[in-house]
Amino acid sequence: MHCPIEHEETVDDLLDYAVGRLEPAKLSQLRRHVATCEKCANFTLGYREISHALDCWQAPEVTSDFNRRVLHRIEMEPPSPWYRVLFDFRFSPRLATAILVLWLLAIVGFTFNHSAGSAEPAGPRIDASQANRLEATLDDLQLLHQLDSSAPASY
Ligand SMILES: [Zn+2]
Repeated sequence: MHCPIEHEETVDDLLDYAVGRLEPAKLSQLRRHVATCEKCANFTLGYREISHALDCWQAPEVTSDFNRRVLHRIEMEPPSPWYRVLFDFRFSPRLATAILVLWLLAIVGFTFNHSAGSAEPAGPRIDASQANRLEATLDDLQLLHQLDSSAPASY
């Protein structure tokens, strides 16, 4: 038998054994293990002592005006100042996750913005043949303009 205290799925059996609620099918096997395993024996003994102490504990009697005094103290408590919120700030796992996600989004957004801007220039794409045709067209227009300006005016 594996040690029940070392496995999450069987530690409940040890707790049930300690308080005498373990099902009979498992009882003899666990009893033999506890007799040979010091960790399980110490755990069982400690759990029994705590359980017994809690069973024997008597809560002190509450005075008849206990509720009234508690409510009075709550009412007399001055309201906390607005800046108290800043000092009561607690760092929680949810807050840490939110900050991490926002930070990652900022990094990713910054990286994609800058890499997209440097890799591809803004504006339409023009390949080499289109550029050559455009240059030839501009040359033709310039030649036509020169011919037009050198021709005599014919009104
Ligand atoms: Zn054990």
